[in-house]
Amino acid sequence: MALRKIRTTEDPVLRKKSRPIDEINDRIKQLAEDMIETMREAEGVGLAGPQVGILRRIVVIDVGEGPIVMINPKIKSINGSQIGFEGCLSIPNVSEEVERPQEVEVEFTDLEGNTQTLKGKDLLARAICHEVDHLDGILFIDRVKRQGE
Ligand code: ZN
Repeated sequence: MALRKIRTTEDPVLRKKSRPIDEINDRIKQLAEDMIETMREAEGVGLAGPQVGILRRIVVIDVGEGPIVMINPKIKSINGSQIGFEGCLSIPNVSEEVERPQEVEVEFTDLEGNTQTLKGKDLLARAICHEVDHLDGILFIDRVKRQGE
């Protein structure tokens, strides 16, 4: 396992769209392990491929219930809404209120190649939306509601 360097705001890689992963090989498994370690070290609840400079559709999330690795995650349905403060390991020292769904259902491939469906709510729903956004080059600051909007 190895720590990876977390890319921050000015890095153009954060604005690019990530490509799907079509084969879960040893490199992808190593990447997943490294991302989990990097997320833990930085005390984050999630990390997406582009944040470590890899433009592939992989995210890791840990909201305190153990790490989940999602490959090619797709949000299948959303329900309700929540407004709360959000931050990002790639945007240090910034925290802003963002509206997100209260619940999401996400489909992804796990490291064994199985398709999984996960329902998340509250913080987990927020983390899933935030990380999936990263795969499309979207940062949470793009979703902050400005006054008067
Ligand atoms: Zn982020």
